[in-house]
Amino acid sequence: MAESPFKFCSACGANDWINKSVREFVCERCGFRHFITPIPAAVALILDAQDRILVIRRAHEPGLGKLGLPGGVIEPEETGEMAAARETCEETGLDIAASAFTYLCTLNNRYLFQGFVWPTLDLCYVARVPCFDGLKADPAEVMETLVLPLDDAPLGEFAFESNAEVVRRLRAAVA
Ligand SMILES: [Zn+2]
Repeated sequence: MAESPFKFCSACGANDWINKSVREFVCERCGFRHFITPIPAAVALILDAQDRILVIRRAHEPGLGKLGLPGGVIEPEETGEMAAARETCEETGLDIAASAFTYLCTLNNRYLFQGFVWPTLDLCYVARVPCFDGLKADPAEVMETLVLPLDDAPLGEFAFESNAEVVRRLRAAVA
């Protein structure tokens, strides 16, 4: 049986499933189809004039105490750029306009949430700031903010390999 986040049919409440595939679960009673699809998330890569990058230390699981980049799940009606700007402001206090973010790439990630490892799709954006004045970490999400030379960020300490990989790609892009 394929792993599923669905316990009961959201249409009829039954719990008899036909697993069509790793991503499609059909209610045996009423035929309602439930899917696992990648959840879009925004990731912010923010550089200052000296090519230093803004890194956060995560204050919650998954990856408690490990490094990460500002970001999070994209909300309804948001673009990726808007989510990158919002999450950056919420987590670090840095107020950057959505229009200042430029697209870099997407990467696959996986995120443990409520007992299920969801596939996510990280939409990665780059923004430039003159300096990192005004940083103010949200203690609920971020233990500390770090400003590190892009080439020196310790990739092995990142909670998610996708975050480490996008830092590698940014290094290649600005080299
Ligand atoms: Zn049903």
